[in-house]
Amino acid sequence: MNLFNVYPLYDIEPVKAKGSYLWDKNGQEYLDLYGGHAVISIGHSHPYYVEKLTTQLNNIGFYSNSVKIPIQEELATKLGELSGYEDYALFLCNSGAEANENALKTASFFNGRKKVVAFTKAFHGRTAGAVAVTDNKAIVAPVNYSEHVTFLPFNDIEALEQSVTEETCAVIVEGIQGVGGIQVASEAFLKAARAICDKTGAALILDSVQCGYGRSGKFFSHQYADVHPDLITTAKGMGNGFPIGGVLISPKFQAKFGMLGTTFGGNHLACAAGVAVLDVMKQENLIENASKMGDYLMSNLQQIQGIKELRGRGLMIGIEFEQPVDEIRDTLLFKHHIFCGYAGKHTLRLLPSLALGQTECDRFLEALQSVLK
Ligand code: PLP
Repeated sequence: MNLFNVYPLYDIEPVKAKGSYLWDKNGQEYLDLYGGHAVISIGHSHPYYVEKLTTQLNNIGFYSNSVKIPIQEELATKLGELSGYEDYALFLCNSGAEANENALKTASFFNGRKKVVAFTKAFHGRTAGAVAVTDNKAIVAPVNYSEHVTFLPFNDIEALEQSVTEETCAVIVEGIQGVGGIQVASEAFLKAARAICDKTGAALILDSVQCGYGRSGKFFSHQYADVHPDLITTAKGMGNGFPIGGVLISPKFQAKFGMLGTTFGGNHLACAAGVAVLDVMKQENLIENASKMGDYLMSNLQQIQGIKELRGRGLMIGIEFEQPVDEIRDTLLFKHHIFCGYAGKHTLRLLPSLALGQTECDRFLEALQSVLK
């Protein structure tokens, strides 16, 4: 059987990874500033993480959500503490799209409404529900649920105030648009979203799948604006590579048996990964490090000639160029052995581990300078 060929691949086969580095099968070392789409939060194969997962697997790796799984509660407690959302409840699932799907369902169960307001260039995932609120025609199939969705320009407060009504079920927004080009939601925009949702009874969903989990220099990027969403979705960095997603649900929503559910969500191994990530984030002050290294990169990038615009927060950085970014990205990868991502045709996207050090930042800055010469 062949693989269903949906991913354009680089001809590189990583066989080992540690911290911010990868090695391919020929022993070539690479600096990883992309973390497989923002997934590697505490660094590849962190010894504490490996130990936690191995111990868990030696005890019990999986049983379904029909028995007590105390490590789910440990994860929820630690997540509440580190994120500052102690009074919210946690629903565990397996991916970002699933988290968004469940957030939309929770909102709709709560207010009985169907209409959703989302934003241009948003990316919320590829399940039927998540893709319906995603503004990317290339991935929307003929069967979709977008008839109830209105897309508005990102950061447009006036459009938001005109479009959200007492028929709106939810407003779904990324605190920093990732795939859409590293666009930061303004504080005024997030505050206006909160206010209009309060006024109309719509639920405010903050998709924090890419910009959450410490990446922005705060646990959630919307915390810069000091707003409290009704539902917050997470995945990616939550498991440092082990598939896990979650919805943080405000106390105003009442859980009912059977309302949400999943076979794999919250399994022992996934929770062990989730707990290990939070422990390491706390022990190694990784949120603070993301903020510090992000500032270091930004201030040094500002000195480099040939960059059109810099956007982002913490270790979620978009570097926009006048020219398409493919050649820059390929030269960084094949000549300097540095993995970066892109967001749109002209923007290089950095999503490194939150444990990134200054040595790694300097290596990237030098390489970029030499590529742009
Ligand atoms: N939401 C955002 C903001 C994302 O960036 C992504 C993935 O890139 C998703 C949701 C979907 O996550 P997943 O691929 O885990 O389903």
